[in-house]
Amino acid sequence: MARIIAIANQKGGVGKTTTAVNLGASLAAAEKATLVIDSDPQANTTSALGFPKDPARRTLYQSLILGEPIERVILKTQVEGLEIIPSDKNLVGAAVELVSMEDREYRLKALLHGIRGRYDFILIDSPPALDLLTLNALAASDSVLVPIQCEYLALEGVSELLDTLMRLRRTINQSLAIEGILLTMYDDRTTLSKQVAADLRSFFGSQVFQSVIPRNVRIAEAPSHGKPVMFYDIHSKGAESYIQLGKEVIANAQKRIGEGSERADSGTGNAASAASAGGGGSPGTS
Ligand code: ATP
Ligand code: MG
Repeated sequence: MARIIAIANQKGGVGKTTTAVNLGASLAAAEKATLVIDSDPQANTTSALGFPKDPARRTLYQSLILGEPIERVILKTQVEGLEIIPSDKNLVGAAVELVSMEDREYRLKALLHGIRGRYDFILIDSPPALDLLTLNALAASDSVLVPIQCEYLALEGVSELLDTLMRLRRTINQSLAIEGILLTMYDDRTTLSKQVAADLRSFFGSQVFQSVIPRNVRIAEAPSHGKPVMFYDIHSKGAESYIQLGKEVIANAQKRIGEGSERADSGTGNAASAASAGGGGSPGTS
């Protein structure tokens, strides 16, 4: 049964898509059957995995809005073991059309019900907004992975975001866990990056992934070749960091199975209370 992970942050350009593509490739390379769902009308995940714009291609839109069987929109990528549900700009309409639909937050969840048995991991890339597409992603997921760019005010941003996510736990998805906070575009030459990373770790502790994604030009170049970075330059720091992240995500999943899902969920509760408690100098609630 797949672990379903939404990759979400309302903030734009923090590395959501880059993480969906490269964590997806890393999981597949570790022989975990993986599906990446592009739930962003920008369709950057779709193109980064080698599918240029094609108006004839069926996408998540057909399935989510028009009721096309989900099996018919899944495509194999060039990466063995990695499949994709592509997106295109029609999905902009979906965010609007969903408003008047029945069970509007739960349509993706219903679609995934029939296919989650086929995969080990399902990653959902979401748009930089808390719109109905993102809500569908969060409602359908076991957990949320939050990429954070190491920059000024990052701590405040994460606290607010976790607050929002935990509010959603009370409404659309009571079992939504925090998969982890991922530091992206980390530049170890700048004091700011180091300071932000240190602050996030001291505040959110083990909620922050050990793996850190460095700012790396190979990561930025790979999408224009339609490839994950590990298939573009396996020796790059960027490839290495996403392989590391893949291992960490797999290890966490195995640990969770070992502990039983109840304990894993209570671990998340701690994150929720840490984020919303407001004590101990939480910048998000002051
Ligand atoms: P949006 O909110 O628009 O969907 P996003 O959160 O998905 O953005 P990405 O598209 O993954 O963010 O990344 C934004 C830009 O930064 C892209 O051009 C990407 O190639 C680049 N980028 C992401 N991660 C890195 C990195 N570690 N090193 C260098 N460039 C990166
Ligand atoms: Mg994106």
